[in-house]
Amino acid sequence: MNKIEHLGIAVKNLTEAISKYELLLGQPCYKTEQVESEGVITAFFKTGTNKIELLQATRPDSPIAKFIESRGEGIHHVAFDVDDIKAEMRKLSNEGFRLLNDEPKDGADNKLVCFIHPKSTGGVLIELCQEKTLD
Ligand code: ZN
Repeated sequence: MNKIEHLGIAVKNLTEAISKYELLLGQPCYKTEQVESEGVITAFFKTGTNKIELLQATRPDSPIAKFIESRGEGIHHVAFDVDDIKAEMRKLSNEGFRLLNDEPKDGADNKLVCFIHPKSTGGVLIELCQEKTLD
């Protein structure tokens, strides 16, 4: 795996959270994007080379809605950049990590993603993400 690609933070109200993070980081939100398959709307910030993703649920059965219900707002996942997501998924699965999807799926910000269950990583939801190419 390469560097941490972003931190994902679950919020109840994206509009309020964007204002708060714009003040906190001194940076404007550069993009918002809805990911229908995950039932989320996301907002992205950059600080230096780091990236923060805010996530708000768009429906009650969204993983973000369930997360906030049980744990409240806060850090939801840590995402790592990978060069070859399928190879990484195979490797981690063989090593006993529990993947939440069998195939990479479309994530926000032009990425293919796969999540790893927090029960197999010491309590942290991990996201693998690979930049989509145009081929
Ligand atoms: Zn993410």
